Amino acid sequence: QVCKDDFLHALEHDIKPAFGASAEALEHFLARGIITWGPSVSGILEDGTLLTQQARVADTFGLVSVLIEGPPNSGKTALAAKLAKDSDFPFVKVCSPEDMVGFTETAKCLQIRKSTVDDRLIFAFRGGIGRRAPMQTTRLSSTILIMDRIFDDAYRSQLSCILVDNIERLLDYGSIGPRYSNLTLQALLVLLKKQPPKGKKLLVLCTSSRKQVLEEMEMLSAFTAVLHVPNLSQPEELITVLEQFDLFTKQDIHKIYNQISGHKVFIGIKKLLALIDMARQTDPKVRVIKFLTKMEEEGCLDLGTMIH
Ligand code: ATP
Ligand code: MG
Repeated sequence: QVCKDDFLHALEHDIKPAFGASAEALEHFLARGIITWGPSVSGILEDGTLLTQQARVADTFGLVSVLIEGPPNSGKTALAAKLAKDSDFPFVKVCSPEDMVGFTETAKCLQIRKSTVDDRLIFAFRGGIGRRAPMQTTRLSSTILIMDRIFDDAYRSQLSCILVDNIERLLDYGSIGPRYSNLTLQALLVLLKKQPPKGKKLLVLCTSSRKQVLEEMEMLSAFTAVLHVPNLSQPEELITVLEQFDLFTKQDIHKIYNQISGHKVFIGIKKLLALIDMARQTDPKVRVIKFLTKMEEEGCLDLGTMIH
């Protein structure tokens, strides 16, 4: 029979490797750097920096939580990692659904009696929502236990930063129908709103490409601030990125600009970098045409439509 102790043992021993590597995780997210392709990038970094400073200041609340949202591939995770890294907080934890995969599989099989985990679960219901879990046997979400552990650890440090990547996926939110774990949602809401112990400072950075979903879950109001990460939408912005690489010659870039000028561009920085990687593999003679064709195919460029 599996009991709470087994679960906590697993939490201690199996989950550590995944969570021990937060510094490496930040570096990994930032491996390709941050290109300032337009004023929105500097704007996000400025606002974000102000918020991290706010989290540091002694005479404000001990909690600052920021949602960094935008379309898929727009660069949310890298910007969150940049803010986490530059915050220079001694305790940084990265928490992404991927980290939980292996663990969740085991934990999913665990039927834990609610009473046996009362002390660990109670945090979720003590805070602000004033609702209690049913007393009967509950299939306890492993995500709650893991998040509880991460926040617990964070509260022990003077200045801590938690990066929750793709927060909607923690809620098991599937794109097929509005199905998500309400228990996990309630617990996350409590964690996002709960003040750390006196004297402790906590900065929570979350990313999501499903702002609408979070809005429907009434989660948006839990954040101190929401920062929007846009896609590149101006031909000039695209050119700024291309100029960072030695991939295209000056003439090539000129050719590309002439082609796309006045047309609709809409591409996330992550996708653009992938297309640049792809172009690098092609013969320099056909690189420009290949790049533009790929942009069109992927729906990131509409050469048929003129904009003014
Ligand atoms: P997903 O929707 O899949 O979660 P994402 O929006 O989180 O994607 P990232 O994983 O952050 O996107 O990928 C952005 C990539 O672009 C990273 O490799 C990052 O280093 C690079 N990058 C370059 N310039 C910027 C920028 N201005 N903002 C964000 N990322 C940038
Ligand atoms: Mg991401």
